Amino acid sequence: MNQVATSSQSRVNALHCAKCGAAYSPFQLQAVSSCCQQPLVAHYSLRQPLSREEGIDLADNSMWRYGALLPLLDEANKVTLGEGMTPLLKLPRLAGHYGFDALFIKDEGTNPTGSFKARGLSMAISKAKELGVTGCIIPTAGNAGVAMAAYCARGGLAATVVMPRHTPEAFKEECYWYGAQVELVDGLINDCAARVRQLNAGGKLLDISTLKEPYRLEGKKTMGYEIAEQMGWQLPDVLLYPAGGGTGLIGIWKAFQEMKSLGWLAPETKLPRMVAVQAENCCPLLETYLGRQPNCHAYTGRPSLANGLAVPRPLGEPLMLNVLRESNGTVVAISEEDMLEGMRHLGRHEGMFVAPEGAAVWMAARQLLASGWLHADERILLLNTGNSQKYMSNVAGRAWA
Ligand SMILES: *Cc1c(COP(=O)(O)O)cnc(C)c1O
Ligand SMILES: [Zn+2]
Repeated sequence: MNQVATSSQSRVNALHCAKCGAAYSPFQLQAVSSCCQQPLVAHYSLRQPLSREEGIDLADNSMWRYGALLPLLDEANKVTLGEGMTPLLKLPRLAGHYGFDALFIKDEGTNPTGSFKARGLSMAISKAKELGVTGCIIPTAGNAGVAMAAYCARGGLAATVVMPRHTPEAFKEECYWYGAQVELVDGLINDCAARVRQLNAGGKLLDISTLKEPYRLEGKKTMGYEIAEQMGWQLPDVLLYPAGGGTGLIGIWKAFQEMKSLGWLAPETKLPRMVAVQAENCCPLLETYLGRQPNCHAYTGRPSLANGLAVPRPLGEPLMLNVLRESNGTVVAISEEDMLEGMRHLGRHEGMFVAPEGAAVWMAARQLLASGWLHADERILLLNTGNSQKYMSNVAGRAWA
């Protein structure tokens, strides 16, 4: 191995159990922690200072420009389709119509395979390849499976994707074109997870479930770095995110903490209040947040137009609740009808065909403005996590209310 530290060389030095902090090696294949069966979270050595100039490879116009703060050790194992560095746009017409002063959107729908799942899967499949894995399996609500199928194809790994039977056809079809094996299950993503355990009882495949391997989180956190960089190292006052499994919410918050430790954000920088947006049809986080249940372990949800939000029992619930507490955030749930209405607004006023998840985030901003939780003069950032092409069979004909 090259002993000379270059600026882009990974600073990863440990994985920590999210519950008790026990340390694990980032140089071996890991799943959840064996101590607490909880997610493992990557840590980086910041003993040697790393400036923004050293830490960002400006020549790389993808999420990999932050390679020093990602866990990949050898460039040769990188599996990329150019994910990340998505546009961060102003929404002046929408803001004008609905009374916001400074409204922004980060459009993750421009990623390879049409959603921000590309970031997590590029990272996870790169690490899987680095650690000698030859095949992967995933339970998915749709987008994660498509992304995994694409990155496995790109990296030369076998892919098995397990998704709900009711998922729009376009998600299944795209997986077939990437050569993946697709299994359909009656139920939601938690039922798919049970099928994954069955199919992979022998443990031959690496389980890429949300937060059951440590690296999708690291890919998703690059959204936080990009937001800071694209906003000139200022952060928004409020950030709204559509939370299913929660990796994006947890990852963006992790990036903000890392940038504080690195000194990339001025010490007086206030971190945004983080809002988790869910579907009324499946809102386990809201129920727990409101104290209507101790946790999501027995929650049952219903399908939603926003497939990505139909996650009844997210393993990362405690981590999401931490983010909400630490950031003074909140949770909002949006109805199916309102998602369609939000899609119409973004389509008509801004020319964006956003996923129902992104539309839900916009409608949540409106609700929170109406309730006084956020103010018209605050800087609001919406995360649109995907485009609506693959949701077409569910939304076709609904452009008019
Ligand atoms: C998966 C997904 C989400 C939820 O993301 P998590 O990181 O699991 O919370 C939101 N929107 C879209 C379009 C998705 O595919
Ligand atoms: Zn532990």
